Amino acid sequence: MSEIKKTSGIIIRKIPFSDSSLILSLYSREFGKLSLIQKGALRQGKNKIGSKIDTLNHIEAVIYYKNERDIQLIKEVELVNYFPSIKGNLEKLKYCSAIGELLNFFIMENYENEELFQGTLKILSRFENSTINDEAELFIRYFLFFIRHTGFEINFKKCGICNNYIDSDFDIINFNFEKGFICTHCSQNSFHSFQFSKELFKIITCLNFKKEIHSSKELNNIIKFLEQYIRYHVPEFSGLKSLKMF
Ligand SMILES: [Zn+2]
Repeated sequence: MSEIKKTSGIIIRKIPFSDSSLILSLYSREFGKLSLIQKGALRQGKNKIGSKIDTLNHIEAVIYYKNERDIQLIKEVELVNYFPSIKGNLEKLKYCSAIGELLNFFIMENYENEELFQGTLKILSRFENSTINDEAELFIRYFLFFIRHTGFEINFKKCGICNNYIDSDFDIINFNFEKGFICTHCSQNSFHSFQFSKELFKIITCLNFKKEIHSSKELNNIIKFLEQYIRYHVPEFSGLKSLKMF
């Protein structure tokens, strides 16, 4: 027997299935990542639901839920927001698609985390409403928030080896993918995976602690660093394709 359940979520992937149906991955508030099927979604004129189902849309769905089933069946869909400004702007779309990729790769079924869900909706609205070309900055803020919530948190204050405070006054601050930031003293005897200039360290620290930044230079290096860091911990993750595609 299936139960009827209601869920709120963001569509992170959409794949046509057979002649007329769509399978989608939903990052849902209540059930983590869910695979859903909307039968008849592609049949023209018959079912208006198809247009509501688009990647990055925020929807409310009523589903026939069966625990043992891999793909749940959609009964009804209501559109909450389709983020038209994101869809109409390539830079916004590129970074928001990368957010969808992170969610699609790292979020599992039945993973419930209200703060991550609300933070994801909040960043999409910030992208939607932004008029100042700060896409890369918004994306890094989200990426750092995302790794805090998925178990890859970085300690920006203390050395991962001796636990002393990191002195941000040095010209170069070393990072080891395994240990985290390492102080100058420990750096003498350990391998580093990445080096931060004083400026770059200042920028990533400000972004992590939700402070304003005064330079948007080198943001791409921070994104590359975060991708490498997460790939080190999850080798199956092959990087963010959206960032290369656009
Ligand atoms: Zn140390």
